[in-house]
Amino acid sequence: MRFDVVVVGGGPGGAMSAYELSRSGLKVLLIEKRALPRFKLCAGCLSARVEKLLPTGWDSLIKHTIRMGTLGYKGEESFTFSCFKPLAYIVDRSEFDYFLVKKALEAGAEVWDGCEFLGFNEGKRMEILTSRGKVEAEFLIGADGFYSKVAKALGYKKDKFFRSLEFFSETGLDQEVRIDVGLVERGYAWVFPNSVGIASAGKDELLEILKVYTKRLGLKESSRIHGWHIPFLEKEKDFHSGSGRVLLVGDASNCVDPLLGEGIYYALYGAILAVRAIITNPSNPNLEYKRLSKPMIKELIYAGRIARIAYQFQKWAYMWGKKGALKAYYKLLTGEYTYKSLFFKAWLRLFLS
Ligand SMILES: Cc1cc2nc3c(=O)[nH]c(=O)nc-3n(C[C@H](O)[C@H](O)[C@H](O)COP(=O)(O)OP(=O)(O)OC[C@H]3O[C@@H](n4cnc5c(N)ncnc54)[C@H](O)[C@@H]3O)c2cc1C
Repeated sequence: MRFDVVVVGGGPGGAMSAYELSRSGLKVLLIEKRALPRFKLCAGCLSARVEKLLPTGWDSLIKHTIRMGTLGYKGEESFTFSCFKPLAYIVDRSEFDYFLVKKALEAGAEVWDGCEFLGFNEGKRMEILTSRGKVEAEFLIGADGFYSKVAKALGYKKDKFFRSLEFFSETGLDQEVRIDVGLVERGYAWVFPNSVGIASAGKDELLEILKVYTKRLGLKESSRIHGWHIPFLEKEKDFHSGSGRVLLVGDASNCVDPLLGEGIYYALYGAILAVRAIITNPSNPNLEYKRLSKPMIKELIYAGRIARIAYQFQKWAYMWGKKGALKAYYKLLTGEYTYKSLFFKAWLRLFLS
């Protein structure tokens, strides 16, 4: 069987790629190794700026609209700022990802769930090996997440990531999310309306710390605590873009915010850029993808600079948040500021204070 593009992975990066490619008239096969809809460990928090990337109808999936953020220090002290505008939305990842897959189907993509990508051979046309046999394609998009087999086949290895633990529970919050710093080396703990979790790029004992944190806030701990990894990008070399006619998007490419681990926005954004690269420069899509991704990568590099300072001086970052940095961050969530503008505003304020 022949396709223009085979996309591996039915998460936001893969489903969005398949949707955008099919809308542009290309013959697309999306393969997902699990039966759909599938569970994905995630807090499901979409920053408000995601709106401009998503197809219509996605808002019916919103479980909570976030208008308030609490920043805490070690679960001991905290402050809250509210905002008139929505800052973020909470969705159920299984529903959200399946919605995007259905959009791709409606746009004409073929979807094989319960089908695993096994490898590929590059020739004039690419031969892609799956658990359902061989298919041929001109291009391959690897959107197969943290443990991407497509990325491994290209020789990439991940060396920067958060380890994370999360459990699902009604926390009593509705329009509010809480984040605490000061608990782990490089990362934070969170309480969202329906989940509690912790992420760290350091060597912390996450389970112990999560238990203490949960108890400290008077929350009920669940016996089902799940764990997964979140990659992040803070240097240009961390961007695993792929090679030739093989492009990587989302977690497979490491395009995740190094400050808070926001990955859904960048998976969607990366998918749109990868599709644009295939359409506008089919003879060298990887070069084009790198070129188009430059502003996104620069943003993540600035986020990395902020993250390194904030996590090195966590009490100071907390106090800085209280002095107004948290409100400035809200403008990033709504798309009014970029990480670059936040970075320079912070230095200016520091210089003037
Ligand atoms: C605990 C936790 C909380 C998080 N919270 C948030 C949050 O609140 N907001 C946010 O923006 N980000 C969050 N993230 C990050 C976010 O989940 C990821 O960045 C996002 O899912 C990346 O999307 P993706 O499409 O690249 O990969 P994924 O969503 O991981 O999708 C990859 C898909 O590929 C499939 N696959 C894998 N291998 C193969 C194969 N060989 N063949 C076929 N299919 C395959 C998988 O089954 C999966 O469905 C969180 C992550 C974790 C771990």
